[in-house]
Amino acid sequence: MTELLYLTDCYLRKFEATVVATEGNRVALDRTAFYPGGGGQPADRGTLLWEDGEAQVVRLRRQGDLVWHELDIEPPPVGVSVSGVLDWEHRYKLMRTHTALHILCGVIWRDYGALVTGGNMKPLAARMDFELEHMSADFAQEVEEKINAEVAAARPVKIYILPREEAFQIPDLIRTKVNLLPEGIRQVRIVEIEGLDMQADGGAHVANTREVGTIHIVGHESKGRINKRLRIALGA
Ligand SMILES: [Zn+2]
Repeated sequence: MTELLYLTDCYLRKFEATVVATEGNRVALDRTAFYPGGGGQPADRGTLLWEDGEAQVVRLRRQGDLVWHELDIEPPPVGVSVSGVLDWEHRYKLMRTHTALHILCGVIWRDYGALVTGGNMKPLAARMDFELEHMSADFAQEVEEKINAEVAAARPVKIYILPREEAFQIPDLIRTKVNLLPEGIRQVRIVEIEGLDMQADGGAHVANTREVGTIHIVGHESKGRINKRLRIALGA
């Protein structure tokens, strides 16, 4: 089983681990800070180092209890100690972008009562779809002002684990479809933007909304009668 270090420490960019399995050019580790992708957040990139080798992590995949790191060269054998180093520039941009999306859906829910229907992100750019009937340039402008006000408010972003039963008591979480979590999952990871948004979420986030920086709404479009899309871009 791979311990997922990013779940409790999003700022961990270097870690030590041991190879527990290999398969072709892939290694599974007993612990990793590499985010394997999912929930709209792309996988991390970076480097694995060991006593007599160094490899780029070119792809990641979570399979059952293991995170597989695909390398650009033949991997070290089982039992070897490795250091993992994240491509931090890439990851930190994704953390800022992911938190920006939570600010956006927090504001849209609070002020317009609309749920999210989908979303995706790249470093410093993202899109999100909402159950909204109307969309216009004026609306996009209004939303842009509101989300930047939340950045300026410097709200703490807290991450913690709750027992399933406790998580189900939080009315705000129901909109993020916490009730769709498989029966077997006993604990729920919560990402809370203090005073704005609360979601069951497995991704990586900054610790305070001010780290997101300026958010621009760069596009708005209709994807159906009650499905409208907003595109955002973050300042470098
Ligand atoms: Zn998220």
